[in-house]
Amino acid sequence: MSTKIEVQNLKKSYGSNEVLKGLDLIVKDNEVVVMIGPSGSGKSTFLRTLNKLEEPTAGKIIIDGHDLKDPRVNMNQVREKIGMVFQHFNLFNNLTVGENVMLSPVELGKMSKADAELEARELLKEVGLEDKFNAKPQSLSGGQKQRVAIARTLAMKPDMILFDEPTSALDPEMVGDVLAVMKKLAKAGMTMIVVTHEMGFAKEVADRVIFMADGHIMEEGKPEEIFGNPQNERTQEFLNKIL
Ligand code: ADP
Ligand code: MG
Repeated sequence: MSTKIEVQNLKKSYGSNEVLKGLDLIVKDNEVVVMIGPSGSGKSTFLRTLNKLEEPTAGKIIIDGHDLKDPRVNMNQVREKIGMVFQHFNLFNNLTVGENVMLSPVELGKMSKADAELEARELLKEVGLEDKFNAKPQSLSGGQKQRVAIARTLAMKPDMILFDEPTSALDPEMVGDVLAVMKKLAKAGMTMIVVTHEMGFAKEVADRVIFMADGHIMEEGKPEEIFGNPQNERTQEFLNKIL
């Protein structure tokens, strides 16, 4: 299996606040990594450094063999291959659902409008929203909006998707539909890093669970290891609070 993401001694500071204190991680093709950890431990910052929404202070990030610090690397091309799904869906409310999904491929000249529309209809079907093509985002529930956001990400044909707490802004009854879409993607072989506290999802879908605290990866292992027999005291303490 080839390596999709390789991170070496990654550090990130904001002023004197060191948020990432030397992370090492390798994510292989088709792998699903779930990241858990207390609020403020640096999970979002970590995901944002992977597609250069944040510039690391030190360390190395290699995406699909491309060192992000190499000036010859076309960062836009690399970034297009890394989908991101956020807690707040960031849809354009003045556009229809279909237009939201079509927007990037058309604007970046990847597809004609006609092809992008066909593709968007197909993707909306995949996330269970085939009847919402012409709807405005305001008319959708949070769970539906998040599924549109996932379809929009898929429209760019990413090689990997980073999810930052995709269900934590949703009413409980909406969470299942979003997780079901994510499960389907995982089963189809998408490489994913998912920051989530949905332990059921982690147990069922994750190949590996990473516990992060204070800017360090404290512990990682298979879900049954981390949830069933955590070795690190901080992991135990955290799991006791949320389980
Ligand atoms: P998590 O996602 O695990 O809750 P974050 O990565 O959001 O953690 O935040 C980790 C730390 O980095 C926090 O102390 C936060 O205040 C700080 N931080 C995050 N983004 C910024 C920023 N843009 N500027 C300054 N500090 C930031
Ligand atoms: Mg966060």
